[in-house]
Amino acid sequence: MSRLPPVIREALGVLLPQSCAGCGVKNEAICQECVDALRSDYQTGSQSGIPVRGLRTRTLLSGCLVFSSLEYSGICANTIVQFKKHGNLVLARHLRGLLAAAIAEAAEYALGLVTNEVELELCPVPSAKAADWRRGFNPIRTLLNASGLSASRVLKHSGRESQKKLNHKQRRVNANGSIMANKMLQGRYFILVDDVVTSGATLTSAITAIQNAKGTVLACATLATTPRISQAPPSSRDFHSYPD
Ligand SMILES: [Zn+2]
Repeated sequence: MSRLPPVIREALGVLLPQSCAGCGVKNEAICQECVDALRSDYQTGSQSGIPVRGLRTRTLLSGCLVFSSLEYSGICANTIVQFKKHGNLVLARHLRGLLAAAIAEAAEYALGLVTNEVELELCPVPSAKAADWRRGFNPIRTLLNASGLSASRVLKHSGRESQKKLNHKQRRVNANGSIMANKMLQGRYFILVDDVVTSGATLTSAITAIQNAKGTVLACATLATTPRISQAPPSSRDFHSYPD
């Protein structure tokens, strides 16, 4: 079942019992209350007023700014994990706009950094092939496709261990050098796109890979950001965990 394409799994979903991805209670892919909670979380971040149009932002050690629509906790975290696990297209329809909002803000910020006219490319952070094979789909490319956005496949994953069960320090070590460019990228400008920024190690590794290939990363966009990088991982009582 897990290797079936998302569209077939969604079709089968109407025959199988399911519970809301956000709250786990209502008998539907995602209930209206959880959809409203996602929107409300995005609007809360948008109204916070800092520092760029109020979207949630984080500065990586490299100085690169990351724009995120949601805080990775509660209903948001549950929904993202369920989407990554099952590729449910109903969830994609609710998440795609939130990712696109972060990309739009990142793009506006990025264009302000360059004086000449440049063509911005969206570059998804690659996940380990084994993870995509297990899922049967790639979550970020699925969300970009659902929004009609094209992605440049210029990075590849070396296939090292998944980040999922690692703490922040282990993630930094594991991510270092785990991503590489598959060609030289002189004169090309990118916005890196990922689902969740936790320690920032994976994005930093992707930035290094693009820089090593002589390309330029102007900003990053993610669906969600963890509340604080020092925060402990969720307890085993939660039915979500940090994604890889
Ligand atoms: Zn719900």
